[in-house]
Parts: sequence; C-alpha cells; structure tokens
Amino acid sequence: MDHFPIFLSLNKNRVVISGGGEAAKAKLRLLLKTSANIEVFAEQPDPEIIEWARTRQLRLAQMPLTADLIRGAALFYAANEDASKDHQVAALARSVGALVNIVDNLHDSQFITPAIVDRDPVIVAIGTEGTAPVLARAIKADIESRLPGTVGTLARLANSFRTKAQALPFGRKRREFWREFFFSVGPRALANGGEEKVKNGLADLLDRHQNSRQTSGHVAFVGAGPGDPELLTLKARKALDTADIVIYDRLVGAPILELARREAILINAGKEGFGASTCQKDINTMIVEHAASGAQVLRLKGGDATVFGRLDEEIEACDAAGISWHIVPGITAASASVAAIGQSMTRRGRNTSVRYLTGHDMRGFADHDWADLAKEDTVAAIYMGKKSARFIQGRLLMHGAQRSTPITIVENASRPDQRILAATLDTLPHVLEKSNVSGPALTLYGLAPRAAEAQLINQTLQEFA
Ligand code: SAH
Repeated sequence: MDHFPIFLSLNKNRVVISGGGEAAKAKLRLLLKTSANIEVFAEQPDPEIIEWARTRQLRLAQMPLTADLIRGAALFYAANEDASKDHQVAALARSVGALVNIVDNLHDSQFITPAIVDRDPVIVAIGTEGTAPVLARAIKADIESRLPGTVGTLARLANSFRTKAQALPFGRKRREFWREFFFSVGPRALANGGEEKVKNGLADLLDRHQNSRQTSGHVAFVGAGPGDPELLTLKARKALDTADIVIYDRLVGAPILELARREAILINAGKEGFGASTCQKDINTMIVEHAASGAQVLRLKGGDATVFGRLDEEIEACDAAGISWHIVPGITAASASVAAIGQSMTRRGRNTSVRYLTGHDMRGFADHDWADLAKEDTVAAIYMGKKSARFIQGRLLMHGAQRSTPITIVENASRPDQRILAATLDTLPHVLEKSNVSGPALTLYGLAPRAAEAQLINQTLQEFA
C-alpha cells in the first residue's frame, strides 16, 4: 500500500486550486461538499466557476499565483490541464508546505482523491492507487446501490443522541443498542414518520435497553471454510460481525480474521497436530469462561467445525456449564480439494460412498477397515494424512489395493498458494517427500485430477492405436 487512506478535516481550512477548466471543475464538485475555504486561481475561469464564486461557494482570483498566496493551505490542486504550468505551480505549493495533487499525474502527486460514496456523514472512499479507475467506479456504483440514502440521516441523528446513549455501559450493551437502531428501529421510524419519529424511537429504544436484563453469553461453533474468505457462509460472516471474542484455530488465516469486528478480542487456540489433551481442556475452559461472563463467543474452526475438530468435547463443556450454543456449518477441506482438481466426489458406476478418514487419532496413526478401503473404486478424503502416508500405503497394499490407484494431494486448498500433486498409491510417500508439503494437505484417495486423468486416457488410447 503506497497510499494510506485517512479522512482529513478541511473544516475552515484553505484549499487552493490552480486552473479553471474541466479538470478543476471535477475536483471542485467534490470539494464543494466539504466545509473548506476554497480558493480558485484561474485567468480564464469556466462560467460555472464564476457562478460558484458569485454565490460565495468559493473565492475566485483571476491573477497569477505566487507562493505567498498559497501559504497556509492544507491542500493544493494543480488542475491547469497543462503539464508545464502544473509543475510550476506545484513547485510553488510545495515550497510553502502544502500537500500537492497534480490532476492525472500520480507520480508527482503527494495525495490522490478517491472515488467517493457520499452519505454524509457516512463517507466511503475507494482507491486503487491509480491502477484501475474503471474498477473504482464499478465498486462505487455497487456500494451506492447497497447503502440506502437514509444512512446519512440516521448517522446524523445517532450522533446527536450519542451522549444520552452513554447511559448504557460501554461495550456490548451499547453496541446492541446501536445495532438495533441502525438496522431495525431507525430505518423503520424514518420510513414511517421522518426525523421526529426517529428521535422518539431513539428515546424509547434507550429506555428499553436500560431496563433489559444482562444478556447471557452464547457460543457459536462456526466453520471458517478451507481458507478462501469467499468460501465463508453468510452466517459465518454475520457471526464475525457480532462476536465479542473469537477463539480460532491454526487453520484459520489472516484474511478471514480481518473480517472480525474491530473491537473483538481474537484468541489463537492453535494446536500443532494433535496436541496434549490438557490443551483441549484449556480451550474448553476458555470458551466456557468467556461465555459465562456474558460474551458472544465465536469458536472459529477451519473447514467444517464438525469434521475432525474435537467439536463434541467443546459442546459437552458448554452443556456442562449450562451455556447455549449453535453450529454454523462450513466448507470442509475435502469439498474444496475435490473442486480444485475438477472432480466429483461420487460418480455413477464408480463409487456410491465417500469416506472421510483421519491419518491420526489421539493414539497415533489411525486404524481403519483397510480391507474395505482397498477395494477397487474406493474414494476417500484423508485428513492429516501427511505423516501417516507410509503407514496408510503399507496397510492398503497389504490388503490388496492396486499400486496404480490414483491419489491426489491438495495442499492449501482454496488459498493463493494452493498446490495439486498427482500420485499413485505406489508413489504417495515419495511425492510427499520430494514436494516439501508444508501447508495443510488433503489426500484424495481414488481420485486423479481431471486434467491428468484425461491425459492418461489419451495416452493409453494412443498406445493401443
Ligand atoms: N475441520 C477441518 C479439518 C480439520 S483437521 C475441515 O473440515 O476441513 C486438519 C486437516 O484438514 C489438515 O491436516 C488437512 O489434512 C486438512 N485441511 C484443512 N484445511 C485444508 C486446506 N485448506 N487444504 C488442504 N487440506 C486442509
């Protein structure tokens, strides 16, 4: 990020613009929305600018600029649509310490003006560091269509009520009050009776919240999906929006945690592999203690919370403490991995069942019905199957599985660093070793990547031709 977005107060500050044509007018249309004192220097100003000056929305000076005339300005725009003139006036502005923007010249500008969605006092600024104005405009249109025009009015009315709302204790209680105002009571009151009704609604709502009992804590067990934030469910997003405490696993990455509410407390409960059971006990205690204190706890687990995530133990701890909970399903690593290789988990005439296996359990390598797994056309998703690869290979071969059975390893499924490694039962440990698989990896037993499979069939056909 080269440009750091901030909101600069222009209240009573001077903004100086050099230029009187279309470029200057485009900037002025934005600047006129602010409370800045605007001064335009243009020898031949556009009639619209003259009109703005006549109605005292800005001051217009039809004389050449000097450094002294700029001194004290917070911002300076060079908008002459003439590169050498722009450079000359920009140098003057810099010499007296003003922040300079040269219109359409990213390289020589100290700041850039974002695309703006204006729901004053709610302002959304969109920037692409000058790389993709078309994209910025599309995002602006999208946000505009989603932010009702009344948002600004509600924010303004809320602001005038802020001191009164301080009667509620800081933290969740106050947050819940504002949430209900912005997303329910406020919009309804505005639609039904205008600003007066909103003001009355605020007072009633405060009364109700002041007299409500302390809300009790709750735990949401939420699947965060395999890593791509776009693979979060809408319910998971909402839970991230409302949680006070987020207790997350090692598998949950930064792009997802960034979506948590800014005030939320994030706690890393990551365990490498299968940690000691006291560690899980600590996690259970932590979940229960936070919920018992009244917090909305989000227990965020990689993939689907119900798959190899020791969910039962955490649920039992909640039940034992009388704490309410619910589960939000997520996309498990197997689903993301099979999607990554372009295959279907099941196929008519091939496999009518799929097994989810773990390579490890709490005692070490996990045991399975190897004879059954070794049967032709079996499809299984093996979680935590890296260290146990040689063990799994040995057991399957011992029970008669074909050495040529296709296997695909998907590392970091759905993440930017996703890797797909094609192997067979014969080559599995070797492929894992030589490929230095360091991220979470899922082993798809009985499936080859669709592209590789097609190539193989072609080769065989050619050999027979
Ligand atoms: N609850 C999780 C699984 C937890 S067990 C889920 O539903 O996906 C941890 C194992 O999941 C890892 O060892 C790995 O085998 C698999 N895994 C999790 N995320 C993965 C990812 N993005 N890509 C590949 N495998 C992943």
